[in-house]
Amino acid sequence: MLGRLRNGCWMLTAAAGSRAGPRAHSSSAASGLLRSQAYIGGRWVEAGDGARFPVQDPTSGRQLAEVADCGPREAREAVRVAYGSWPSWRAATSKERSNLLRKWHDLMIKNKDELARLITAENGKPLQEAFSEILYAASFLEWFSEEARRVYGDVVPTSSPNRRILILKQPIGVASVITPWNFPSAMLTRKVGAALAVGCTVVVKPAEDTPLSALALAELADQAGVPAGVFNVIPSSKSNTPAVGEVLCTDPLVAIISFTGSTATGKILLRHACDTVKKASMELGGNAPFIVFDSADLDLAVAGAVNSKFRNSGQTCVCANRFLVQEGIYDAFVEKMVKAMHRDLLVGSGFDEQTTQGPLINERAVQKVESQVSDAVSRGACIVTGGKRHSFGAMFFEPTLLSNVTTDMLCTQEETFGPLAPVLKFRTEEEAVTIANSTNVGLAGYFYSRDYAQIWRVAEQLEVGIVGVNEGLLSTPEAPFGGIKQSGLGREGSKYGVDDYLEIKYVCFGGL
Ligand code: NAD
Repeated sequence: MLGRLRNGCWMLTAAAGSRAGPRAHSSSAASGLLRSQAYIGGRWVEAGDGARFPVQDPTSGRQLAEVADCGPREAREAVRVAYGSWPSWRAATSKERSNLLRKWHDLMIKNKDELARLITAENGKPLQEAFSEILYAASFLEWFSEEARRVYGDVVPTSSPNRRILILKQPIGVASVITPWNFPSAMLTRKVGAALAVGCTVVVKPAEDTPLSALALAELADQAGVPAGVFNVIPSSKSNTPAVGEVLCTDPLVAIISFTGSTATGKILLRHACDTVKKASMELGGNAPFIVFDSADLDLAVAGAVNSKFRNSGQTCVCANRFLVQEGIYDAFVEKMVKAMHRDLLVGSGFDEQTTQGPLINERAVQKVESQVSDAVSRGACIVTGGKRHSFGAMFFEPTLLSNVTTDMLCTQEETFGPLAPVLKFRTEEEAVTIANSTNVGLAGYFYSRDYAQIWRVAEQLEVGIVGVNEGLLSTPEAPFGGIKQSGLGREGSKYGVDDYLEIKYVCFGGL
C-alpha cells in the first residue's frame, strides 16, 4: 500500500521482505508492488554500474523512489535474454499463453487499487482516472488472452491441381517496446498483451517519468507465472534513454520496435530501425480537431468537449486539440463550455477525491502550454478563462479557453498536451473539413452533428485513424487505435492489434 502522510503527500517504500525495494524515502506504509530494479530474465537486477535515477511526484516535486538506470549494456542483455526465451514461448500452445495472460489480468484486477495509486503518485492524474486506466490496461490482457486462440492462418484455393496454398501466421520474434508516461500501464499492456499472445517475447523501456507502473506490472507477470525472459523491463534515465533506444532499435536480435510517444522521437527510432529493416509499430502525436456544427446537440457537444479535452489534464494523444465551431452557435458554445469548465473541473492533488485536474508531467510540459497561450494572445486570441499557471503548484496549469483563435496560432498547429481549449469559428462544412485536415498528423478527430448525410460525409473526409461522432471518449480494447499521416504506423487493440507481431508465411505444398 501507499501511505498518505499527514501533509497530504504520498510517499512510497518497498514492503518489508520484498525481493527488490527502492531506497526508502519515508513513509507510514509500504507498497507491496513497488520495485526499483530492472526485471531481466525473471530476476530483479541493478544496472551494471549500480546507477539509479530518481522518480518524482509531479504534484509535490518530491522524490518517490530511485530506480535502476539501465544503459546500453543492460538493453543488449535484456534483448539477448528475450531472444533466448523466444523458442520455448512460441512453442507454448496458444491456450497456455492465453491462460497466463488471463492470470496476469486477474492479478491486475486484484491489485487495482494499489496499481492506481502508483499511477497517481508518479504521473499525478486523479485517482479515479488512474483507477480507470488500470481497468483499461487490464482489459487489454483479457482481450489478447482471448485473441491468442484465434490467430488463424488460411488455406487458399489453388490454381494448380497438384499444389495447395497454405498461409501460416507466426510470431515475429523479440519486440522492443518503448512506452510513454501519460498512460504508463495501458500503453504497456496494449503492446505487450498482443506480443505475448502470439508468441513474441518483449523488452520494455518505460518512460523515465513513470517507471514504477511498468515494474509493478513485471512483478504481477512474475506472480502470474509468465516464464523468465519472456517479459523484461529496463528502466532508464532521460540521459541514458537515447543510447538504450538505439540498442532496442538496432540490435539484430530484435524483430520489431513498438513505440508510443511523440512524432519527433518516433522518427529517430524509425531511422535507427531502418538499417536492420525492422518492423515498426508507431503510435505518435495527434492534433485532433473537434468540430461542432450548427446542427449539433449543443449540450452533448459541450459535455463531450470537456471529457475529450481535459482527461489527464489534456495529456492524451487523442484529446481534442482544436475546437472548430460553426458561426451560428459559436458564442453559445463558448459560454456553455466555460460554464461547464467552471462547474466540472477542479485542480488539485490527484489523491484528493474532488480533483479532476492534476499536474502536468514536468516543467517542459507547462512551458509548452504557456508559450502557446502567449503566442495566441499576441496574435489576437482572447483568454476567456484560465491562461496561466495554477496557484496550487508549479506543475499545475489553469484549465484555459481561448476564443478568436485563428489557424496561424501555434495552439492550432502543434499538439498542446495540456489543459488548453482554443476555439476557432468557421462558416461552412467544407471550410471546417479543410482546416481539420490541414495538418501533417491524423490520429483522432471528433464532430457533433444531427444531420445524417453530413455525418457520413464528414466521417469519410476526416484524415484521421479514429473518428468520434457525437462522442468524446473513444478508447476501448475492441476497437483499433492508431493514426494516419505522421501519427504513426499500425493499429493497437482490436482484432488487428496482433498483426504487427506476426509474420505471414506462404507454404506451397506441391507434388500432390
Ligand atoms: P517522448 O517521445 O519524448 O517520450 C515517449 C517515450 O519515448 C518515453 O519512454 C521516452 O523515454 C522515450 N524516448 C524519448 N527520446 C527517446 C530516444 N531518443 N530514444 C528512445 N526513446 C526515447 O514523448 P513526450 O514528449 O514525453 O510525450 C508527449 C508526446 O507523446 C505527445 O506529443 C504525444 O503526442 C505523444 N503520445 C502519443 C501517444 C499515442 O498513442 N499516439 C500516447 C502518448 C503520448
